[in-house]
Amino acid sequence: MTHACRACGQPLSRTFVDLGMSPLANSFVPLARINEPEKFYPLHALVCDNCYLVQLGEFEPPKDIFSADYAYYSSFSSSWLTHAERYARDMAARWGLDAASLVCEVGSNDGYLLRHFVSEGIPVIGIDPAAHCADAARKVGVPTEVCFFGARTASDIVAKYRRADLMVANNVLAHVPDLRGFVAGFRIMLKPEGVLTFEFPHLRHLIALGQFDTIYHEHFSYLALGPVQRVLAAEALRVFDVEELTTHGGSLRIYVCHSGASHAERPSVTRMLDEERAAGLSDPKTYGDFTPRVVAIKEAVFEFLTSARRQGRRVAGYGAPAKGNTFLNYCGIGPSHLPFTVDRNPVKQNTLLPGTRIPVHPVEMIEQTRPDYLIILPWNLRDEVVEQMGIVRGWGGKFVTAIPSLTVF
Ligand SMILES: [Zn+2]
Repeated sequence: MTHACRACGQPLSRTFVDLGMSPLANSFVPLARINEPEKFYPLHALVCDNCYLVQLGEFEPPKDIFSADYAYYSSFSSSWLTHAERYARDMAARWGLDAASLVCEVGSNDGYLLRHFVSEGIPVIGIDPAAHCADAARKVGVPTEVCFFGARTASDIVAKYRRADLMVANNVLAHVPDLRGFVAGFRIMLKPEGVLTFEFPHLRHLIALGQFDTIYHEHFSYLALGPVQRVLAAEALRVFDVEELTTHGGSLRIYVCHSGASHAERPSVTRMLDEERAAGLSDPKTYGDFTPRVVAIKEAVFEFLTSARRQGRRVAGYGAPAKGNTFLNYCGIGPSHLPFTVDRNPVKQNTLLPGTRIPVHPVEMIEQTRPDYLIILPWNLRDEVVEQMGIVRGWGGKFVTAIPSLTVF
């Protein structure tokens, strides 16, 4: 079956990387369901020959992905919380937001970001498809609508509230199956001179640093400025500023307004488009070269774990992020080679990782078992984890990251 590009509609035929069959990366298995089967889906990323949007060719409808079991709460990474707080402060100052403004976040989760606007007296509205996240948000004073954002829901929200001065969608664009319809919602909801910011992990880093594990079913698209600009232009929106961020292994924050709005385009936009071209993002060869590098990472990790096991070394994981599940499933690592991992999120504790069935324990398990190697699965939080888990050094333990290449330190 041929798929059509989510951005431009052209048929897709070029493989970026085929990671085989994988379960949904956030479908943690409760111990009570240990004897039940799991669903696996193809995890095959393609690249469009016309607009170079990297995307999954097959996907599960979002109603299944964002089910009540959806285990992701923003509030558990301290570096991300700091990032959100700084964003709120910077945006309120840069755009002169006050009690007469309205800030709207799409994918507002538990209100981790909007609550910083609330504390400055700036009205907000959160939008999130997960009801339990919305409940948590309301408890911290963030009014939240439970829905999937798009053209129709945007019209409903404008009718119920009003149009927004600032709209935010961080790490959401990649999660949207209907990219065009989603972007249309922002056109409808944004004031004529309003500003919209999107943050997304940058495809340039995914390719340069072999971050194949950021590919999972919840991420339909893998984004760069070029293809995103095209999608926005089709909805009469334009990018007028771009910033590079260190979050999620290297992200872009783009500033977007209506095509006819007065925001002057900064030189950063042309500069980034030039950089993407120089990085080969409009060259089919760049995409063809990716798979052999992913296979090399798989081999290195498996060899390391096999060797550690033969030498009687104890290995444990740190973290149970979605990316870890892509990584472990693709690399074929099960409890024989990684007996357990730990996570600070109580929702994930005392479950099994999807597919690999590796148990997830509370963080205290590390101190109790004193492993020789601690594999950091959320490599984007490496520095934070090393600082928090410094105790590992006390018994001569070492940290391990596998991406961009196997590193023991
Ligand atoms: Zn395309």
